[in-house]
Amino acid sequence: MYGDMAGNIIIKREPGLSRLGLYIHIPFCVKKCGYCDFLSAPADEDTIRIYFDALLAEIGSYDGRTEGYYVPTIYIGGGTPSAVSPDYICEVMKAVRRVFRTGINITDDSYDAGDVEITVEANPGTVNGEKLALYKEAGINRISFGLQSVHDHELKLLGRIHTYKQFEENYRLARSLGYGNINIDLISALPGQTINSWEETLRITAGLSPEHISAYSLIIEEGTPFYDIYKGNASEISYGYPDLPDEDTDRAIYAITKDILNEYGYHQYEISNYSRPGYICRHNASYWTGIQYLGMGLGASSLIENTRFNNTASLSEYIGACKEYCKNVKNAPSGQNYHSLPGTDKGMPDINCLLPDLTGIRRNVEHLQVKQQMEEFMFLGLRMTKGISRDAFLKRFNIHADEIYGEVLRKLESGGLILNDGDNIRLTGYGTDISNYVLAEFMLN
Ligand code: SF4
Repeated sequence: MYGDMAGNIIIKREPGLSRLGLYIHIPFCVKKCGYCDFLSAPADEDTIRIYFDALLAEIGSYDGRTEGYYVPTIYIGGGTPSAVSPDYICEVMKAVRRVFRTGINITDDSYDAGDVEITVEANPGTVNGEKLALYKEAGINRISFGLQSVHDHELKLLGRIHTYKQFEENYRLARSLGYGNINIDLISALPGQTINSWEETLRITAGLSPEHISAYSLIIEEGTPFYDIYKGNASEISYGYPDLPDEDTDRAIYAITKDILNEYGYHQYEISNYSRPGYICRHNASYWTGIQYLGMGLGASSLIENTRFNNTASLSEYIGACKEYCKNVKNAPSGQNYHSLPGTDKGMPDINCLLPDLTGIRRNVEHLQVKQQMEEFMFLGLRMTKGISRDAFLKRFNIHADEIYGEVLRKLESGGLILNDGDNIRLTGYGTDISNYVLAEFMLN
């Protein structure tokens, strides 16, 4: 797949197979949290139904174009996918399986279709036994719970709709239904948070033994209510809100995270991600290791064959373009619509000619220059604790990493920020602490 001069995405059929992660965006939430700048909002049932029609059309539009790819990971994120009827999620899964070849361990002519990592994000307060059972039937085998804190006063401050107790009930329900791969998302550096309250969050969460824990620091994003409260001049709004932790507390919070999670058997494999052995998030790891991905749904980003693009973030544009696509499919000679889009070679309409209609949703198509690819190779790869391999750099770019980054590597090594160890380059503990600074050093001007 590549971008042509007009910015359309053309998909090449290739004899070999390459790996493709799928991300599917569900942009609906029960209520907007005060700190959130994700593309998500509450919506009525009609909007949700129309959105899923559009999403199924987008998925269907790839039918017949995916022969060169196999899909080992699928991630249904949001928003809050668990806030909508599970029937929609099941329909999405059916469409994905019809259109994409899912599986891992591909050889030239065989693959393991059974070991696909399929994650759905679920928020406590929107989950029940029926939903979890239907997800399982649809093949979803990993649940990512957005818990954020075990303290109800912190949850309330964040604008979350759930209590810790609701989360714990949902978590135990998922376990009782046989989910063996669960992630729990946490956020540190919350307003008013103390080292003790964060330590309790970590210990109570780890005590539940999920396979994976993500622990991100709160970032105050522009355009959110939290920005007005903490970065704006709205002193009347901020009245009654506790202060953000000071720098020392923030640093201490970060420092205890790794130690406490290690104590419970979790290995830090990325700056903010920890897992039990064998349970790293394969989907997210593929972003950090430069594997291509296709995003479907509102605002979703893709990186295919070194071409980056994203879908429009406008709901009306997205739905309009997908509807137009359906209309064209319905008007095609066989009268097919996206619910019955073809397996290929079955005398169905040539939907290739319809692709330009759907590319109406694509924005910011950018072919990455080699320099940008090198930057991403370094600063995404170094997010992983295993770091990057010089040999892999050489194989990919046909030039030694030291020829490009020799000076930067020497400087960071002498500052104790990276370990420069034969084939392997990785961040030190100190380098991880100030990773934003270290990773920025790999930008090539
Ligand atoms: S539930 Fe998640 S996506 Fe929805 S508003 Fe809250 S933080 Fe944002």
